[in-house]
Amino acid sequence: MSGRDSCQQAVFGPVPSRRLGLSLGVDLLVPKTCTLDCVYCELGPTTHQTTQRGRFRFVQEVLAEVEECLAGLERPPQFLTLAGWGEPCLHQELGLVIERLQRLEAGRVAVLTNGTLTPDPQVRAELAQAQVVIPSLDAATPHAFRRVNRPAPGLDIAAIIEGLARLRQEMAGEMWLEILLVKGYNDSPEEIAALVEAVERIWPHKVQLGTVDRPPAVSGVEPVEASFLEEVAARMPVEAEVIPPPPRQGGGRVAGLDRLVLEMTRRRPCTLEDVAAMADLEPAQARRLVEELVRQGRLRREDYGEQTFYRGV
Ligand code: SF4
Repeated sequence: MSGRDSCQQAVFGPVPSRRLGLSLGVDLLVPKTCTLDCVYCELGPTTHQTTQRGRFRFVQEVLAEVEECLAGLERPPQFLTLAGWGEPCLHQELGLVIERLQRLEAGRVAVLTNGTLTPDPQVRAELAQAQVVIPSLDAATPHAFRRVNRPAPGLDIAAIIEGLARLRQEMAGEMWLEILLVKGYNDSPEEIAALVEAVERIWPHKVQLGTVDRPPAVSGVEPVEASFLEEVAARMPVEAEVIPPPPRQGGGRVAGLDRLVLEMTRRRPCTLEDVAAMADLEPAQARRLVEELVRQGRLRREDYGEQTFYRGV
């Protein structure tokens, strides 16, 4: 793979994020590398499940692409966000990347992580440099952890909760804990009580609650009711919110709208509204662009619940 091709695939957006506002995504991994294989994952099944850290992409190439992308933006993103095709902490140079992104002074640095490697003090030291860490925690008992997250062998949910609690004490930035509830998987009274207890132990700055809203890795996986999310939020011992729908906000990328839409929809299926927001288009323009990409066979339609999503092929 040439350096340029590699970099184009490493940076995506800026896109409007439900949690971060306008966010430029930085991906250190290759599809799809994760410690987990969550039933709700919008990236599809995990093809490379591992707990071993490695050098999945060349850091210098990724950073060069970030700088190139930033230079072409009309307005800077609010966040540079490490996320993408799996678990960013699996990249053994995560700490170096966070440090270099911060030196660019182009936005706050956030890391979306599943938290599974936080029992490792080295991983915690690297994550602690970020201004915002957004770990996910969908289960607090071994039974629900196995069912909803389908972890790699050797991962222990009690050790992960302890790792997150230590990270919270060691970091200077903020921790926003994300909990995703799936009907029939992690929404029993016992599991919710265990999650509340885990939040009490970790004591994040806030909790963000969500449910399945995009085509999941496993068919038949269903969301919980919005009212249930509100009930669970009310039981949390720290500030808790239900994740709102994506804001409408333009990305300001200078050119290549079709490329932007394809990059984004390969990483997560998007609605027409998402496409309009990320590409800063009127709804009718977004529809025309999407229909053209579907006609060319570069986007695929997928229906989930009441909504239609588009996935890059
Ligand atoms: S949802 Fe996140 S943690 Fe779960 S399998 Fe997908 S990438 Fe990995």
